[in-house]
Amino acid sequence: MKYCPKCSTELVMRPNGGRERPSCPSCDFVYFGEFSIGVGGVVIQNGKALLIRRGIEPRRGWWQIPGGYCEHDESIHEAVVREVFEEAGIEARVESVLGLRHSLGAPSANVYVIFRLIPIRGEPRVDGEEITGADFFSLDELEQMEKVQSLSKWAIHTALARQDGFLRIDEPADLARPGYTLFGLPRE
Ligand SMILES: [Zn+2]
Repeated sequence: MKYCPKCSTELVMRPNGGRERPSCPSCDFVYFGEFSIGVGGVVIQNGKALLIRRGIEPRRGWWQIPGGYCEHDESIHEAVVREVFEEAGIEARVESVLGLRHSLGAPSANVYVIFRLIPIRGEPRVDGEEITGADFFSLDELEQMEKVQSLSKWAIHTALARQDGFLRIDEPADLARPGYTLFGLPRE
């Protein structure tokens, strides 16, 4: 990155947090590198988990939990609700965070946040192009299926193995800020 994306001034190298980083001499912009956030949702209904089948590469024809990238101006718990609805037609709400996967490498370092969601309404439906299948499957059915993403299996097993102990949205008044969301272990 050569120019500031905020004000177009040419960036200069400056120390920040132990490294030289491209920094704007005119405003507060510092380039920290390429990062992205992904979200995935385990939606459980009557002991079965929602899976979608990918209609496009990579991994066309494989089954996985619904999910996708979080927009830079979107909260992660809103992103997963949006992706579940867009990909599978299921209206759902976030219950908790089941886990995180951090991956380094191309196209960017990524944090993938896996949520457990509770369905509100809707029947599985797909667009037939990006997504070619969507349905709820039991663990037994999951075991019989070929081409199921390993991380999705891990997430579904984790979600079905226990009911609590996961991170939930917490909203203590003294930490509330516009655009901030805090996830913490359930409090007594
Ligand atoms: Zn600038």
